[in-house]
Amino acid sequence: MAPGVQGPVVIDVAAVTKSYGSGRGRVDALRGVDLTVHEGEIVAIVGQSGSGKTTLLQMLGAVDVPTSGTVEVSGHDLASMRERDLTGFRRSVVGFVFQQFNLIPTLTAFQNVEAAAVNLPGGGEPADRIGDLLTQVGLGDRMDHRPAELSGGEQQRVAIARALVNDPRIILADEPTGNLDTETGHEVLELLTGVAASGQRTLVLITHDDRVAAAAERVVTIRDGLIVDDGDTSGAPGGLRG
Ligand code: ADP
Ligand code: MG
Repeated sequence: MAPGVQGPVVIDVAAVTKSYGSGRGRVDALRGVDLTVHEGEIVAIVGQSGSGKTTLLQMLGAVDVPTSGTVEVSGHDLASMRERDLTGFRRSVVGFVFQQFNLIPTLTAFQNVEAAAVNLPGGGEPADRIGDLLTQVGLGDRMDHRPAELSGGEQQRVAIARALVNDPRIILADEPTGNLDTETGHEVLELLTGVAASGQRTLVLITHDDRVAAAAERVVTIRDGLIVDDGDTSGAPGGLRG
């Protein structure tokens, strides 16, 4: 999509609250969040530790449910979906990337991606598609390596291939460069923003890192469970994609 052209709304969060626990142990992790994201946007969510970033991302990925408010993703009101449909949603509408990579240690890079695959899109041999994905993330010669035999950056590349295997329209990344050195983190970020842009996917990226945030088109700041700044740059030329 050309810079400045808005796609349809793909994420619509309205008045979302989330409280954990009860009584004196209650934590109000989100206290009324509104967020609208258009298809193809690259949005960074920044904020201090404990501000509610991960909680918000879990709402977007239907990993957890709000205490109140609504979350619509790709036209689905998540609260009204059945469990069976939510399982499909988590597998193929969104793709997750985590700080700790979360690979299965006993499986090779190829098998880690394969294990996440449901109905491989586009037909063809599943093995070809997984091989193509691993090649796309720069691991064509590392497919049979286990996580312990890969560097942190390589492990995160496997995780990115895994997140893409069911061709999700939305990628949700929670501090994806948080365990990587600066240079490797930058390469992983380039990869993530690149695969998002080339597939016209939406990328919502949590980060602590100002450099990472600077690569996004839009930076949303969350503090104590509230969005305190939403640099909605609709119409402005994009950052890395510019
Ligand atoms: P961030 O990702 O910005 O560091 P989180 O969304 O993980 O913040 O957490 C927001 C707040 O909610 C924190 O105070 C955290 O301790 C609390 N919290 C998160 N998950 C849980 C949970 N499962 N049970 C209780 N409190 C939680
Ligand atoms: Mg977090």
